[in-house]
Amino acid sequence: MSAYKLLIGGKLVAGDMTMDVVNPATEEVLAKAPRASEAQLNQAVAAAKAAFPAWAKTPIAERKQALLKIADVIEANGAELARLLTQEQGKPIGDATGEVYGTAAFFRYFTMLDLPIKVIEDSEGKKVEAHRKPLGVIGAIVPWNFPLILMAFKLPPALLAGNTVVLKPAPTTPLTSLKLGELIAGILPAGVLNIVTDANDLGAALTAHPDVRKISFTGSTATGAKVMAGAAGLLKRITLELGGNDAGIVLDDVNPKEAAPKLFQSAFQNSGQVCIAMKRLYVHESIYDEMCSELAALAENAVIGDGLEQGTQLGPLQNKMQFEKVKELIEDAKKTGKVIAGGGAVDKPGYFIRPTIVRDITDGSRLVDEEQFGPVLPVIKYSDPQDAVARANASPYGLGGSIWSSDPKRAYDLATQMSSGSVWINKHADLAPNIPFGGAGMSGLGSELGEEGLLEFTQLQVINMAK
Ligand code: NAD
Repeated sequence: MSAYKLLIGGKLVAGDMTMDVVNPATEEVLAKAPRASEAQLNQAVAAAKAAFPAWAKTPIAERKQALLKIADVIEANGAELARLLTQEQGKPIGDATGEVYGTAAFFRYFTMLDLPIKVIEDSEGKKVEAHRKPLGVIGAIVPWNFPLILMAFKLPPALLAGNTVVLKPAPTTPLTSLKLGELIAGILPAGVLNIVTDANDLGAALTAHPDVRKISFTGSTATGAKVMAGAAGLLKRITLELGGNDAGIVLDDVNPKEAAPKLFQSAFQNSGQVCIAMKRLYVHESIYDEMCSELAALAENAVIGDGLEQGTQLGPLQNKMQFEKVKELIEDAKKTGKVIAGGGAVDKPGYFIRPTIVRDITDGSRLVDEEQFGPVLPVIKYSDPQDAVARANASPYGLGGSIWSSDPKRAYDLATQMSSGSVWINKHADLAPNIPFGGAGMSGLGSELGEEGLLEFTQLQVINMAK
């Protein structure tokens, strides 16, 4: 039996099966979680379908009230949720606390938006209006690096627009979503939000379900492609937020000592398990040696440990599979570059990898070309900024990128030449609920957050009247 329950049709129910959830800092079983069967997934979709007509007709002001209540409940239980998030995900408790309160803030942000009828033309012969209608049942699929905030990219806009939702968290981080379901079960009418957890085996069924009208997916590019294929038969709407290989480009006018801590944070936050982490760093040859030394010193001095311990800067990798993958990439990078800090796992239980800096490495090696999604950064030397931009753009991914310079005009000019969905100047990975976010190329399809993110949960309907 598990103390955690699925949320289906307004009821907290046991899973037909259970599964162990491991604390990545100790490798011990943290809790048993429910594991839904396909029959339970179908019940969840049926409940969401049944709840849709009434929720779609509920005035938007009432839907906003429900979202605000959810935000209140998240904040009121912030400490408990943050602790659970650290235990299941691994991140330092300060970061987990930020994620929890950020989640509440994302719910609040969407209550400031509306979906007014837009008059396109009102002339002598006709009046034409654009309406935004809800789609129906939304399948929301979330990965394990930010289980709460990434859920909050999806739920508030989906619910605000009048849709109902089946949420499926990642198998290795189901507990915070289930806890949230328990806390907010009474706020929404039965069936408006359903939460099912699986062992990586229900995503395809949710995607293909004939009563699901849209899949809002965040995860890897490989799985995103499967979602696209699975949704094709019924021409479902999809939003895909996928992997990235963000480049940072540091120009010759940057002071390495000043910039290094910001660059380090951009690459190593959440132990590098961030879709928009800086995953390759291009540094001008004139400051290359100094920048490498600064970054190596920061890596060597970073405090790695259990996220619940005071002072921890970097927690473990979230799961064993990712831990093994990152170790393999580091071993490969030892053949193509020079490791100047870190270089492998910490010799103790938990999926800990020492923050690793690799220099004298270049495009064409796996660590530069692939998404590492872990605490290891390749630092690449360049001499011509145009060439650095070309190499940044050469990736099949296109999520984010950044230019670092003390000359705003130079930085802006290069930023406009980047092909990624987001480009930052003198910072990286700055996300906010009012700023739309989406990937180019193989990093995704569509956008989340901001007004654009809300509109993705609607169907445009044009009413064209003769008069
Ligand atoms: P993943 O693709 O393995 O899993 C993501 C989710 O998809 C999980 O809930 C999983 O159970 C589910 N899933 C598995 N098979 C499925 C299928 N066939 N159909 C539908 N769903 C299925 O990704 P992950 O390893 O959990 O997350 C890491 C990846 O996510 C990285 O590539 C990272 O860059 C990316 N990511 C992207 C963003 C973004 O906004 N662009 C944000 C966070 C993470």
